[in-house]
Order: sequence, then structure tokens, then C-alpha cells
Amino acid sequence: MRTIIEPFRIKMTEPIKIISKEERIEKLKKAHYNVFLLDAIDCTIDLLTDSGTGAMSAQQWAAIMIGDESYAGSQSWKKFEATIKKITAIKHIFPTHQGRAAEGLLAMSRLKAGDMIPNNSHFDTTRANIEFAGATAVNLLCEEGRDPSIEAPFKGNMDIEKLTSFIQTHGAENIPFAMLTITNNTGGGQPVSLANIRAVKTVLSQYNIPLVLDACRFAENAYFISKREKGYQDKSLLEIAQEIFSLADAATMSLKKDGLANIGGFFICNNDEWAEDFKNLLILREGFPTYGGLAGRDLEAISVGLMEALDMDYQTYRHATVDYLTQKLDMKGIPVIKPSGGHAVFIDAKTFMPHIPPLAYPGIALINALYIEGGIRAVELGTVMFGHFDDKGKEQPSELELVRLAFPRRVYTQSHFDYIIEVVEKVWEERHTYSGLNITKQPQMLRHFSCHFENNT
Ligand SMILES: *Cc1c(COP(=O)(O)O)cnc(C)c1O
Repeated sequence: MRTIIEPFRIKMTEPIKIISKEERIEKLKKAHYNVFLLDAIDCTIDLLTDSGTGAMSAQQWAAIMIGDESYAGSQSWKKFEATIKKITAIKHIFPTHQGRAAEGLLAMSRLKAGDMIPNNSHFDTTRANIEFAGATAVNLLCEEGRDPSIEAPFKGNMDIEKLTSFIQTHGAENIPFAMLTITNNTGGGQPVSLANIRAVKTVLSQYNIPLVLDACRFAENAYFISKREKGYQDKSLLEIAQEIFSLADAATMSLKKDGLANIGGFFICNNDEWAEDFKNLLILREGFPTYGGLAGRDLEAISVGLMEALDMDYQTYRHATVDYLTQKLDMKGIPVIKPSGGHAVFIDAKTFMPHIPPLAYPGIALINALYIEGGIRAVELGTVMFGHFDDKGKEQPSELELVRLAFPRRVYTQSHFDYIIEVVEKVWEERHTYSGLNITKQPQMLRHFSCHFENNT
């Protein structure tokens, strides 16, 4: 059959409120033209993030009811540990309340000022935790990953030559570990091949540098490998995931992504000394090592969710939805990043709104248009999020002006996607009527979350 269906039926619903365009104009004005400041109930389709926003299965909800809330050594912990060991075969398993807690404790226990941590691309919380420890976070993404117009199968790969010369320049003694983010979230959700992971591991081994995976979307990455990398077509996603983790010495993960849960994270490692140091900080900050900041019921939901994320029918459907939206928009001439990544569609706002200069924030103009026309909430990855001020205090634009439509897992159906396409098309047809914005109020750091805008007409 040509039609890929949602591999589930729905037994519980949550109403979506549909307010009028006039009401949305009013709501956006009250939110100072920053969609982060809107009430979620006023968003018809919420594509702000895929983090913790997914729908749990009946099996997960059922597992929640048998959550063992014992403080130490609960049955739910046993299940959590066994599931992660089955997928990763890594020795020490620690739950945390989110991915960033795992990153923070890892950085705190292993890094000191002057250390350097290479990655294909650091996610923003990873970078922030590394920098907070006084170390430097460096991106060594392959060339094709840096060009949105190039179509390549594994645009999340690390540049192996750059990695080698990076280690030679800075010295292995200043690199306590290296990371690989699978899939590469900040680089458009693009995958990393097993060949690349193996090549990274080979280089690192020569210098005795451990490899730490940022494994948030390991199952989506495994799906890309099964579809695009030679030799993996007959392997299950679990087998591919096992091969990925066999190359890692440690990993951090946000279980709000491919854990298919609403909260959770983990740190896992093989090194006994790393485990001991991490455990001591975990007890200080998150909780006893058998629950690490989560309730027993969360550990249950995650154990089920991790295996559901490795179901081929689920991944086939998930990738079909992202592809469907990318292709339909591309066919209309709307500038989208290709090939599509695993968890989101990215629109090139610079090309979409060429009449709006970067310092008038074309991404924000597009996001606001999507909200006003259809109640869709998206996020800007452009000058507001990544721009900076130079020595003279002059604002410098970001290299790219992207708008991300992130897909919550198992939440929206085909008709929702057709609606999204219709809204984007309408905005595309009327794109010349939209103007840029000024910022009227902004904090020093992470301004995109809370700054205020005004239209500059
Ligand atoms: C979400 C995410 C994190 C951080 O996880 P939280 O659970 O939000 O703290 C780290 N790395 C990547 C690649 C992510 O997508």
C-alpha cells in the first residue's frame, strides 16, 4: 500500500481549542509577539518542541499503575535498569530527572577549566553545562552538514580529519571525553552513520579518549541507519541500537525524546571511577541512585517507551509524517531543509521572507504569521536565538534563519498535517505583506524565551 497509516488507534482524546484569527491577533499582542509567552491552550497545533510532548501508549499508562515507589531498590528501577542494559549493554545505569541533569553532573564530575570537548554539534544545554564547568565546547560537524541546500544521507556525521587534527593541536590530556549527538538536533535532526561512529571511536581509542553519546534520538538515528546505510537493511532497530552503544563508553539521554515519556533522563557508563563520582553527585542533587529524581511510575513508563521507540512500524510512521510535510511544502516551492531530519521540518526563513533583513528577524515574522493564520506555534532558530553582540555592542545576525516545526510523538494525525500545510501555503502566498520586528525588551542570556517584540511598520 502507498499510504503509511498511524500504527495505533486512539482511545483517549484531548480537545484542541480553535479560536478566531481576531482572538489570536489579540493574544499575540498580549504576548508581546513572542510565542513562548502564549498560553498553550490558545495554540491550535503546538509544534514548539518534541521534548516531553508525546502521547504515551496504553501499555505505558498501564505500567504507570504498577509503579513501585519504594525509595531504594524498587521493582520499577529493576525494570528500568534491565531495559537500558538490554539496549546498551553498558555497565552502570543512573536515572536523572532530565537530560540536562545528566549532562550537568557529568560535566561537574569530569571537567575542569581549560578542558575541550569536541562533538558533531553540541545541543544548547550540553554546551551550557560544559561551559559552566569552565571547559570549551567545540563543534566538528562534517562539511555537508553545514550547508542546508546539500542532500546527503548522514549530515550529522563528525568530520574525522578535523577530529584528528583537533586532538593533535590541543593534546589528548586536555580532552577528558568526546561526544556525538545522535541525531544531531541543532543541525536539523540529521543522522550519524554507524561507519562514522566507528571511525570516531577508532580515532579516540588511539588517544585513550572515551566516547560519550548524546543519545536523545538514538532510535530515530537507528531508523535512518536501517534505511540509508549499506548492510543494515535486515537488522532490527534494537540490533542497530546495540551496535551503536557497543562503540560508546558512556551516554547521556533525555528520555523526553526517544524514551517516549513526558519526563526523565539517564547517564550510563562503563568506567567504575566515573560511575562512583557520578553517583555521589547524583545523591546530592537528584536523589538515591535507584530513582534519580524520578518517581517509580516514571521509570515504568520509560522502560516501556524505550522499547516502543525501537518498533519499526512506529519509526516508519514517524518518519513518513516528517517526510510528508517536507515534500508537500517543497512541491509548492517553499524553502525547506532537505533531506528532512528525524523530528522536525525546518523552513528557511531568510529565503521565505527575503524582504525582511536578518536584524528585523524574518524567523519571528514567519512564526507570528503561522500563529495568526492558523494557531500554529513553531520556534525560531535564527538571529534571536543564536545572534550575538560584537565588542562594540552591535548586534550580529546568525548564519542561518530557520523556523522549526517540531513533531510531538504520536500526537497529531494526517489531517492535522494537511491543515499545517494549508496554513504555511497561505502565509507563503501572502509573505510580502508581513513586516519585520524590533526587540523592545530583552534579558542578557537566552533572550528568545522571554524578550518582547513590536512590529516595525
Ligand atoms: C533535549 C536535549 C537535551 C537536553 O535534555 P532535557 O531533557 O531537555 O534536559 C540534550 N541533548 C539533546 C540533543 C536534546 O535534544
